[in-house]
Amino acid sequence: MDSTFDRSRLRDADLLREDLFIDGVWTPGSSGERTDVLDPATGTVIARMAAATEADVLRAVDTAAAAAPAWARMTAPDRSRVMRRWYELIVASADDLAAILTAEQGKPFAEARGEILYGAGFVEWYAEECKRTYGDVIPSNVAGRRLLTVRQPVGVSASITPWNFPSAMILRKAGPALAAGCPMIIKPAEETPLSATALAELGARAGIPAGVLSVVAGTPAMIGEILTSHPTVRALSFTGSTEVGKLLMAQSARTVKKVALELGGNAPLIVFDDADLDAAVTGAMASKFRNAGQTCVCANRIIVQSGIHDAFVERLQTAVEALTVGNGFEEKSEQGPLISQAAVEKVERHIEDAVAGGATVRAGGARHPLGQTFFEPTLLTGVRPDMLIAREETFGPVAPVIAFDTEDEAVAIANDTPFGLAGYFFSTDLARMWRVGEALEFGVVGVNTGLISYEGAPFGGVKESGLGREGSRHGIDEFTELKYLCVDGLAG
Ligand code: NAP
Repeated sequence: MDSTFDRSRLRDADLLREDLFIDGVWTPGSSGERTDVLDPATGTVIARMAAATEADVLRAVDTAAAAAPAWARMTAPDRSRVMRRWYELIVASADDLAAILTAEQGKPFAEARGEILYGAGFVEWYAEECKRTYGDVIPSNVAGRRLLTVRQPVGVSASITPWNFPSAMILRKAGPALAAGCPMIIKPAEETPLSATALAELGARAGIPAGVLSVVAGTPAMIGEILTSHPTVRALSFTGSTEVGKLLMAQSARTVKKVALELGGNAPLIVFDDADLDAAVTGAMASKFRNAGQTCVCANRIIVQSGIHDAFVERLQTAVEALTVGNGFEEKSEQGPLISQAAVEKVERHIEDAVAGGATVRAGGARHPLGQTFFEPTLLTGVRPDMLIAREETFGPVAPVIAFDTEDEAVAIANDTPFGLAGYFFSTDLARMWRVGEALEFGVVGVNTGLISYEGAPFGGVKESGLGREGSRHGIDEFTELKYLCVDGLAG
């Protein structure tokens, strides 16, 4: 296969796959059509990914259905061992997987490697959890009758994932799905299919049976329509924008699928006067600038109390100005390019609107001299809650600071959004930590930290940020059904 991907970056060049993976076999698909995969740092074509036709997607569904009974019947320890091998192969290939990720997505190599290990953690965690999908025995209400519940795999599942975490978003879904005994059909984002195919290659090497894990790339609306309308697909797990999530939820209603949605956010990060200033600046930087601000849990509104405002802004400005922007493969890079020109234009629109409304640019504010989709790390002050930048997810490296006076005001500003994924606040007052922690209408709340993700903890949103949870013992619920068995005739 011709591509300009620099294979010398890979120890194991067989991990670079540009075909679909259906029924345990790599295939160019029935049309032979391909889509360019670009390196956002250089704009060059690094691969030409096969595009699935309807027939290819239907075949993926059929082969998943054929593989489902044996995978579900396999004992939990046997399934666990296959998953454990997959985990070990992912970890052993972390450098190669990170190189593929940086090439197609742009994030700094160290961050990409962190994403691979974070995602692998879900495979490891669920390889263990599959041994613990317990049911209950319920005290009976009738003599001679026994009541019990069992958790059973929901059946064939599908996932549709975004480009911002091309590896972890897949593993966060495939880990619990496979553990529960469900095959999964993966539809990665068009921008970043190579992380998905590399994971599938390692899955096959680990012994995941044919049909249990498939990758179909191509026209999103067509693939989404099949995966949501097909009666054989019983669960859909989606991570992406709220707009597309709503569409997929509506489409899935026709066959009443189990739907898990991890959607957009508009995270507040509140800094109270009593905060530890160092922790607040470190937390704001980690939450805001990871992945160039392109995460669903990025602090989108930094809400700072008047007493600490100036000291915090001064420290944050120093940290923002110290960030090194560059190609993700350069060791010193701390911020890579944005994913596309459209992403840069959205960032520019938000800054322009804020400045027109009276906000001040304290750092950055423009495209970076490196060109392409590189953007300067930016700090704005004097932002108001009614500005575009505070109402919409910016998805870029811009920290907008909103000032406030009272705790009630901060909570009201934070909750004034249809989104409810992640929120953060910094305070050393224990009573306030409980009060505000409980008052924030978000599925995940970080207190005195900007980094909250861990495979053992439940991640997910409220309001228009989604349904269901990923990670922890709750994550497997999205792929199991609870069956109640009422057994009579036992009076002896
Ligand atoms: P997106 O446009 O919604 O795309 C996400 C996925 O949906 C991609 O695979 C995309 O395919 C696919 N898609 C688009 N239109 C579709 C359709 N009509 N039918 C079926 N699939 C369709 O979101 P994005 O811009 O890639 O990702 C950024 C968004 O994801 C942000 O809002 C972010 O907050 C959210 N996100 C949420 C979480 C979370 O855990 N809550 C995590 C990460 C990101 P193509 O790429 O091929 O178009």
